[in-house]
Amino acid sequence: MEPAVVTRFAPSPTGALHPGNARTALFSFLLARARGGRFLLRIEDTDRERGSEQHVATQLAELEWLGIGWDAGPGRDDGRGPYRQSERGALYARLFAQLEREGQAYPCYCTPAELEVARRTQLAAGQPPRYPGICRALDAAARAAREREGRTPALRFAVPGAETLRFDDRVRGPQAIEAATLGDFLVRRADGGAVFFFCNAVDDALMGVTDVLRGDDHLANTPRQLLLLRALGLPTPRYGHLPLLLDASGAPQSKRRGSVTLSQLRERGYLPAALANYLLRLGHHGAPDGWLDLAEMPRHFDAGRLGRAPAHFDAAQLDHWQREAVLRLDGAAAARWLAAELPADWDGERRASVAALLKGNVLLPGDARDWLAVLGGALPPLAPDAAQAISEAGPAFFDAALAGYAETGGDLAALADVLKRSTGRKGKALYMPLRCALTGRHDGPELAALLAAIPQSLVRDRLAGAARLGRG
Ligand code: GLU
Ligand code: ZN
Repeated sequence: MEPAVVTRFAPSPTGALHPGNARTALFSFLLARARGGRFLLRIEDTDRERGSEQHVATQLAELEWLGIGWDAGPGRDDGRGPYRQSERGALYARLFAQLEREGQAYPCYCTPAELEVARRTQLAAGQPPRYPGICRALDAAARAAREREGRTPALRFAVPGAETLRFDDRVRGPQAIEAATLGDFLVRRADGGAVFFFCNAVDDALMGVTDVLRGDDHLANTPRQLLLLRALGLPTPRYGHLPLLLDASGAPQSKRRGSVTLSQLRERGYLPAALANYLLRLGHHGAPDGWLDLAEMPRHFDAGRLGRAPAHFDAAQLDHWQREAVLRLDGAAAARWLAAELPADWDGERRASVAALLKGNVLLPGDARDWLAVLGGALPPLAPDAAQAISEAGPAFFDAALAGYAETGGDLAALADVLKRSTGRKGKALYMPLRCALTGRHDGPELAALLAAIPQSLVRDRLAGAARLGRG
């Protein structure tokens, strides 16, 4: 039997999440769900300077909003935690000791200045700069001498000699790199802190992660991580490196460049399911064209169909899915979504019926404002095509409409019958000028529902106004 799949998302809390991060999280989540596996959340907060508690809280909220739930993670331990790297120092220390004891890592006393000299010498000789192995050969006496000088060592991994490191990336295909090109790399800094890719690799192993999907900015870390895991006798996950998500300008999404964040999309009123539908198709081929609920997505996710080409974040595509998502809201859900725009004194029934009426014409909640004015305020300025339809119908039509409305009230079918008889108009020639007079626009929600929802005095004012407009 295939072992159970365990995936994870491992954000560094150095900023808010971008759609690119969300895509990585979603794909990892779906990969686990597709195979009946588990999805973990790990906070990679070893960078004390750049990380913050505020960002941790925001990132957790953003994931929850998106509907990506974790089986284990911060505050949800399963015995393999803690799930914050800042709380795992003792585990790392044990592994450093193991590496050192087995001669697979050694203390490095080099100062930044000494390393800089070595780097320049190599560059001048036309060689790629890498650690030249100065401290690898130090014997116990030489080490003791440096300790006496008060130098605190870093810890360097002793990269084995000539060897081609190979792994099969599930997105990028077979990879090969000569171990000798890596140079002995740091695993623990002189200040005692573990380096990022050490914690990242050993945590995956200790947490039982079988499948890693992550941004391809981490592809270059992978050979070193494979060496480390082998040296420690730990299992290696299967890696897949996703191409970066680019902004419309073609630059990679980044916190520093001010790319749009999940929080901003949420504040603007984008629905999480719209974003999930958009992200599912971004660099992942073969999902059905139509809408999928999050619960259906695992069945349609296949890590074998991940593309290698960088994808662009495309606001128009997101809007397409947003429209689909909004249309799927029932009245109550649409009312919650529009809550900030709806008058506070409306009862639940009115809120739900108006929200249901407007949702086909509203992409983001702010778009509802003009329609709410149509339903109970001052009409927005007449659109040119609406003004034209009104003048084409002429004042007699609106006089007849006023008279008909006095008889029929908010019943559009009855009003249309009366108008048909009195004006000889029918179909579009009848409905369009009515719509334009009542809403100031050529298009919008269903006219019968609008007519029923607009207060009678406003209907009369607007029909009378249209009649006046025709008289000039
Ligand atoms: N903490 C890393 C990041 O935020 C994740 C690395 C990984 O997924 O392996 O980029
Ligand atoms: Zn050294």
